Amino acid sequence: MLIDLRTIYAVAAATSLILGLLQLSAFATGRFGRWPLWWGLSSLLIGTGVVLVVLRGSVSDAISIGLANTLTWAGYLLVLVSVRSFAGLRTKPWHYAVGLAAPMILLILWIEPSGFSQRVALVALLMGCCDAAVAREGFRLARTSGLRSAWILVALFLPTSVFFLVRAVLALNGHLGDELFPPHPVPMHWAAAGAAALVLARGNALLLLAAERSSSQLAALAESDPLTGAMNRSGLDRAVAALSGHTGRPQRAALLLIDIDHFKTLNDTHGHAAGDEILRLFADTARSQLRQGDIVARHGGDEFVVMLPGLGLQEGMRVAERLRQAFASALAARPGLPSAPTLSIGVAAGDTASQPFDQLLQDADGALYRSKRLGRDRVQTRQEAPVS
Ligand code: GH3
Ligand code: MG
Repeated sequence: MLIDLRTIYAVAAATSLILGLLQLSAFATGRFGRWPLWWGLSSLLIGTGVVLVVLRGSVSDAISIGLANTLTWAGYLLVLVSVRSFAGLRTKPWHYAVGLAAPMILLILWIEPSGFSQRVALVALLMGCCDAAVAREGFRLARTSGLRSAWILVALFLPTSVFFLVRAVLALNGHLGDELFPPHPVPMHWAAAGAAALVLARGNALLLLAAERSSSQLAALAESDPLTGAMNRSGLDRAVAALSGHTGRPQRAALLLIDIDHFKTLNDTHGHAAGDEILRLFADTARSQLRQGDIVARHGGDEFVVMLPGLGLQEGMRVAERLRQAFASALAARPGLPSAPTLSIGVAAGDTASQPFDQLLQDADGALYRSKRLGRDRVQTRQEAPVS
């Protein structure tokens, strides 16, 4: 079978131009941030650069080699800028300008037809490094933000970075001949044709990532309390279900039910905004005192649930007491906040695998009631239990 590289490049160029327009329209919706702007411009630049490559022989070398390589490289670098922008990283304009201009000096030096191998090697090396950098960003996104579709970026850019590096070495050793469109393409040209087909897949990769990111942001929003950032009831239900169904083995946990004392009076005397500030301060304090894996949820109004997997009753009481004191210190350290709202805490413990969560919650509620009845500002269990 004959492979017509020029036609394949022309199709890749047209695909890239159409994708560029699509990505720019995504940017125009204003819902995606700036990354589709960079990716859209990148696709348009690469598409135009490849169109000029396709015209090799029909237009001057300055256009089909010099300008074509410059546009393609400018577009390639913008892919990296776009992925970094998606990850929340800003690329300084002068970094981009240096990255763009430095290799151009060499390309201009090798613009003669005899410089074919050096040019191909340089362009392949640049693209290989750029792809490796994009794959690295994909890896970072997958690791730090938990976006599974970031692995698609790694899968689409890592193999091509290896491919381009091999191409660079082959070009330098003269294995790619001295024409871009030879009458009988070598195997490497077949691979180049395959790489061109990746244009379409790559153009959609960040849209997939954006879709995953917005759906997980929505899920997080639906499960958290906007005022305090703690989980809401649905978040708590999901976290508890995940905890109890985790291993099938007994899974003990302590549960704290925490209520702010005389919170209504505080609202009435200092205003609702001061009340909100206290609720936020409590949630911040709780988060700073607890381990990763512990659960903090707003149960409603001024009542919070803290779930401590792996802990029994005595340990739960110790954590509760530490939390009560930390909240008092945090209040004292914040000038401008109304003084001295205290915490009443009820503690229960049990096996979340065999015991319904509601029963644990009822125990903690009984303990909280006891704490209120005994004068507030204290930690209690449902029955008398000495703190050891
Ligand atoms: P107790 O010591 O018995 O707990 O007395 P209390 O005044 O704290 O009584 P209660 O727990 O019934 O009062 C809860 C108050 O919390 C009533 C409500 O106005 C207030 N509240 C509920 N949600 C919010 C909120 O989001 N922000 C503010 N500022 N106040 C809230
Ligand atoms: Mg209260």
